[in-house]
Amino acid sequence: MLNMITKKITKEQRNDFYQSKFEYYKLVSGYCAVIIALCEISYFFTDCQLYGRFAIETLIPRISILIPLVLFLCLNPRIKTYKNAIWLYYLMPHAAMWATIWAVYHLENRDFVREGFIIMHFAFLTIGLAMPFVHHVFYHGLVFANIIISNLFIHYAHFEMMITLALPVYVGVCLLQIILENSYADHYLIKKSLEINSVTDELTGLYNRFKINEIINPDTHKFYSKQDIYMVILDIDFFKKVNDTYGHESGDTILKYVGRRLETHITPKDYIIRWGGEEFLLILIDCDAKRVATITEDIRQDVASGNNDVCPLTISLGYSKYNSNENYHACLDRADKALYYAKKHGRNQVVNADML
Ligand code: GH3
Ligand code: MG
Ligand code: MG
Repeated sequence: MLNMITKKITKEQRNDFYQSKFEYYKLVSGYCAVIIALCEISYFFTDCQLYGRFAIETLIPRISILIPLVLFLCLNPRIKTYKNAIWLYYLMPHAAMWATIWAVYHLENRDFVREGFIIMHFAFLTIGLAMPFVHHVFYHGLVFANIIISNLFIHYAHFEMMITLALPVYVGVCLLQIILENSYADHYLIKKSLEINSVTDELTGLYNRFKINEIINPDTHKFYSKQDIYMVILDIDFFKKVNDTYGHESGDTILKYVGRRLETHITPKDYIIRWGGEEFLLILIDCDAKRVATITEDIRQDVASGNNDVCPLTISLGYSKYNSNENYHACLDRADKALYYAKKHGRNQVVNADML
């Protein structure tokens, strides 16, 4: 079963997968951490039942759980990654267990300790929802260390029985964690494929215009990146004529061809977006005037001289440097004007908006 997860989630995806699982279950496990603390305090009443009076001896041990709870409530909102969350989340059931051990130390009647420790496994189950399975096996397994260490000074009447009863529950909870992690893997992969599809153009496999929303601030429409950016808009010349003469399917072949050619000219930092019909938008990140001039001219020549299996083809390009004080629409507008200028002045050329 472990293999099933490994097969579904690649090594490169694993970190992202666990982060996604953590974000998805964070709220549930977070509430459960609070419930664990409240349950621990409520066991003060069972102590009173055992004593048949107000169990003053176990009051402080039971309410000592409030200290890790306050720590949890203060730190939890600040914790963003699952790696940082692991110790904080598992702290709660372990602290509850040690508060119980402290209370048990004072109890004369220890008949129900086994039940108390079995209940702890449920606490670990709820925390484990948000955590990677492999970490769960370890941190939940520390339950046995807690029992063994506390046995050194409490000397449980049925120590072996305690361990034998706890083992199958521990294994059962771990198996359940595998099943849950596996079913979250399905959810994760569907989510990922929806995310990819929603920003992918079906015909060319390039990004579609929704991709831009991932790289701009939604409130200001400014690029997140602080590096120098150039926006290039390019449009196939007389494409309507291509469609009219050679058919729509040949038109599609050309669109795919242009997309493939564009990919050979950019770096992994850059973006190619099919902006609409036969218009493509290039967003060149960490780019300078020299590089944008070279790339655009290379692309123009590449398409004009290349064999697309349909007909001779040219493109026109307009570009502009993005100014970090403006939103991206302003830069795109200038690039668009440059493209319009190129169309008006003979097509098959590159125009720098900032030179107009
Ligand atoms: P210009 O040089 O001024 O750009 O002329 P043009 O003919 O390229 O421009 P126009 O905007 O008149 O035509 C664009 C054409 O692109 C019209 C439309 O049928 C075609 N088109 C848009 N999307 C697709 C597509 O997905 N597939 C195909 N085959 N054609 C498309
Ligand atoms: Mg066109
Ligand atoms: Mg057009």
